[in-house]
Amino acid sequence: VRTVSVQRIAVLGATGSIGSSALDVIARHPERFRATVLSAHARVEELLALCRRFRPEHAVIVDAAHYPRLRDGLAEAGLATRAHAGTDALCALASEAAVDTVVAAIVGAAGVASTLAAARAGKRLLLANKESVVLAGRLLMDAVAAGGATLIPVDSEHSAIFQCLPHDGDADRGGVRRLLLTASGGPFRGRSRESLAAIGPDEACAHPNWSMGRKISVDSATLMNKGLEVIEAHWLFAMPPERIDVVVHPQSVVHSMVDYVDGSMLAQLGRPDMRTTLAYALAWPERVASGVEPLDLARIGRLDFEPPDHATFPCLRLAYRALDEGGAAAAVLNAANEVAVSAFLQRRLRFLDIPVLIAAVMDALHDAPHQGLDALLASDARARDAAHALIHRFAA
Ligand code: NAD
Ligand code: MG
Repeated sequence: VRTVSVQRIAVLGATGSIGSSALDVIARHPERFRATVLSAHARVEELLALCRRFRPEHAVIVDAAHYPRLRDGLAEAGLATRAHAGTDALCALASEAAVDTVVAAIVGAAGVASTLAAARAGKRLLLANKESVVLAGRLLMDAVAAGGATLIPVDSEHSAIFQCLPHDGDADRGGVRRLLLTASGGPFRGRSRESLAAIGPDEACAHPNWSMGRKISVDSATLMNKGLEVIEAHWLFAMPPERIDVVVHPQSVVHSMVDYVDGSMLAQLGRPDMRTTLAYALAWPERVASGVEPLDLARIGRLDFEPPDHATFPCLRLAYRALDEGGAAAAVLNAANEVAVSAFLQRRLRFLDIPVLIAAVMDALHDAPHQGLDALLASDARARDAAHALIHRFAA
């Protein structure tokens, strides 16, 4: 007789798109999963609403200005949930013995400290925060190995590859030729450069298939999301960049593929709903219901594939360039991209200038320090400064 103990789960970034999909799956299986830690950046009322629903042991508001409201709101609701503030609290709770699983669902480099903390503490680490892998891939993989953590990808492409690889996801085994990431092409697939000159944030965030946070939505529109995912795949599956390819697949049904030396290609298919990926990661190596409807292939009718348009969307190539350069180049790419996307969302930078700004920052900082987390964070900070300094040249 197998006794199933309840997995105690910290959802970091609980108010986000991935956080809410994770909580949706968690709520479907109270006998297996329990959300014991929830965190948010500044949306304290949303965090309080989640606390009333999930009754976690701990709640963290990273922006300390909202701490009094969190503490008072928890007390008013009569909850025993303990209130915390700041990134240090996030890291402490991600490492705490009473937590089995950490869902790393913070957006951006802001997630790196808590992701690394969970890895070092040997947690089951459900990794959605791709920017932390891009920033500190080697450190993260070393921390996973040293801490004995179990890293399970929560990016639909990497989950697909994980599901299609032999055994425990080790790409060296079993005659893998290459990994093939699918890209939807985003909302501007097929458009000319000229037609993208004046587009604004809302058009860029209107993804045809996926509903996601605004930062990753812009990344999907520029194809930087696929670039970050190539870097992510490089680290997660120890695969050299020349063995990672990208194909555009507008229906987002095939989530990615593994190409084997014998000519077989394995694919994972599903609806574009992250609850499938999260249910897989939460229950792995088992499978549980996610609330996602089965695929209806006859209704979908056809699956299309085409090469990426590098001329209109140069960000993907910039990511390969960062892998090629090595060192801190990926950290610089990521930081410059975060500044560029945020400026674009505030209408301070034009869409087509996003890759131009990132390339200029990479040119300026091509020898940035990268030995250890402090060096990488310093390079991240320098890249942000350089991006801010250059941005006036591109005033939207
Ligand atoms: P989101 O913007 O919807 O949510 C982000 C979460 O992070 C929120 O809970 C927010 O409070 C928190 N947060 C933001 N800034 C923070 C900071 N400085 N410190 C601490 N917490 C902070 O984003 P999302 O779409 O859920 O994406 C989260 C991560 O998952 C990203 O790295 C994204 O690339 C990745 N991802 C998302 C999807 C998706 O479908 N949304 C798919 C694959 C991967
Ligand atoms: Mg993805």
